[in-house]
Amino acid sequence: MLIGAHVSPAGGPAKAIERGEALGARSIQIFNQNPRAWKPTIYSDEQVEEFREAMAASEVGALLIHAVYLLNAASEDRDIREKTLTSLTASLNAGEALGATAVVLHPGSAKGGDVGQAIERAGATIAEALAQSEGCALHLENTAGAGGTLGRSFDELGALIEAAGGDERLGICLDSCHMLASGIEIRSADALTAAIDECVKATGKGRIGSLHCNDSMMEFGSNRDRHADLGKGELGADGCAVFLSEPRFADLPCVLETPGPEKKGPTKKQIKEAFALRERGLKARG
Ligand SMILES: [Zn+2]
Ligand SMILES: [Zn+2]
Repeated sequence: MLIGAHVSPAGGPAKAIERGEALGARSIQIFNQNPRAWKPTIYSDEQVEEFREAMAASEVGALLIHAVYLLNAASEDRDIREKTLTSLTASLNAGEALGATAVVLHPGSAKGGDVGQAIERAGATIAEALAQSEGCALHLENTAGAGGTLGRSFDELGALIEAAGGDERLGICLDSCHMLASGIEIRSADALTAAIDECVKATGKGRIGSLHCNDSMMEFGSNRDRHADLGKGELGADGCAVFLSEPRFADLPCVLETPGPEKKGPTKKQIKEAFALRERGLKARG
């Protein structure tokens, strides 16, 4: 498992590799544009080359690009959907240039509206972004289910993939905190096995392509999305060990999006602890 962390790409994407290396990360995740602005970033050829060289020379084996949270592929507002399409397409193009495993996207929000129609709108926007880009995979992330967010259940993720045309570039990013918060039990090996079986049934074989390992500050089924450091939340060390040692996750990038002791993200020590939790989980499975 390529355990790593969400890091800043300030100074250019090659800098993100440096930050990942300093953490002992085997994978990194970045935002490819300012999370508070709509303006998409287009990397220059020099930046792309510098990134690829830095990655090849490092222990970092996978890059994920997280689409920014402003996006809402399901918005009723055509203008927001257009901006989402532009930004998502730019992220997919950046992902292709940088050789990313995938762009990770929160599928969107119905706000207060009809969920079925919101899924159709999100699917159409996603299909269009795929049509306007090439190569890079797009992973829909399961959500905690706050407000009208789409993707709170495996059935919703399956419906989103179908609404987006079922393209083979579509995959799933599973977030441990979001699963627990949305009421999916994953704190024992048996429970997680059952959950993954259900996910595969609802979304299709081979779709699960990336992971976020976060503990949850909020309780099971709370539908609230607050990440905790591993072992410091409702999943606990044992629950995190179960997630990190799931056999079907063994080859996937798994990034921590945890607050860290100084609210600056996970530390090198915490990444090391995550690898140790994986070992502990593997031992417990026998
Ligand atoms: Zn996440
Ligand atoms: Zn979250």
